[in-house]
Amino acid sequence: MKTIIKYFFTFGLFLSFTACVSPSGNEKNSTAKNENVVAKNIIFMIGDGMSYAQIQAAETALNKRLVMNSMPVTGNVTTYSADKLITDSGAGGTALATGHKTNNGMIGMRADSTAVESLLEIFADAGKKTGMIVSCGITHATPAAFVAKDVNRNNYEAIAADIADSEKLHYFVGGGRDHFQKRKDGVDLLSKMKEKGWQIFDDLNEIDVQSERFGVFVADEHPGSAADGRGDMLPKGTALLLKKMSTNPQGFFLMVEGSQIDWAGHNNDSAYLVQEMADFDATVAEVLAFAQHDGETLVIITADHETGGLTLVRGANKDYNKVRFHFSTRSHTSLSVPVYAYGPGAERFSGAYDNTDIFGKVLLVAGL
Ligand SMILES: [Zn+2]
Repeated sequence: MKTIIKYFFTFGLFLSFTACVSPSGNEKNSTAKNENVVAKNIIFMIGDGMSYAQIQAAETALNKRLVMNSMPVTGNVTTYSADKLITDSGAGGTALATGHKTNNGMIGMRADSTAVESLLEIFADAGKKTGMIVSCGITHATPAAFVAKDVNRNNYEAIAADIADSEKLHYFVGGGRDHFQKRKDGVDLLSKMKEKGWQIFDDLNEIDVQSERFGVFVADEHPGSAADGRGDMLPKGTALLLKKMSTNPQGFFLMVEGSQIDWAGHNNDSAYLVQEMADFDATVAEVLAFAQHDGETLVIITADHETGGLTLVRGANKDYNKVRFHFSTRSHTSLSVPVYAYGPGAERFSGAYDNTDIFGKVLLVAGL
């Protein structure tokens, strides 16, 4: 069994840290027990492969409380798919996006291949602006589950075509340009999208804030890691999208994914995991700062599954005052994952339930 010894941690220092966000002050923002409360905006954050151990590992290594752990409401959800006890990101993303269990590998459809609507699509139909920002290719399983319909998550070029054809998506930031432009069928989806009013950028700094529909490709395939390549693209891009999308009088739906937490788990790489968790939590800080100021925004943070079978065990020489990261698999596990909620209607997300239940709760809180 492979054990990675990298991070040690002192309880005293840890306990002295105070959470950055204090959600209790503003009555408008509080999780009041008002059954009729309606959130105008939804920010749906997904840490791919992030369960309790990933969160605590990051807190241990960074020696501070994560911002997500300052959120007032927590729940936990089961993640099994329609055909397996251990889900993949296709079925996991589909459960979160559509409220339906599906088979591993499928996206945006039920196990019987019936396509189903996603939260993003339902919110677009309700007049809200919709967006996605991810630290992987935009055609990857999790973002794909919010827009595309395919029996196989690896059909990246078909997924790119679904994204290009979607009338429901307004903004995106991520990698995956090659699936739109260097295709086996020779079709240049980006020029088609431009004809339909999309603006396509290579860099966050190029964004034309007047544009009503844009995509930013920060990479031809996947963006680099937070520590090596993409830098602060996720928190910075999320802040930019919030600034843009919040101008819509009818509100918005934004999906944010910390995609590479999962890849660090697959690699059993502690340093990579901590960096990706820190990056995701920096993005949570941007989101909560926005939601706290806005007062009409529900923030949900959850995960599609756990990756790596991570646990925290005693240090070398039976030292119970130190912890080591210990991965038990290079794959996903069946562990349940946390749900954090903040904003109007947040209290509906407490307790233990299934990942498909999040969908209905979000619609209820949004009044849809
Ligand atoms: Zn994975």
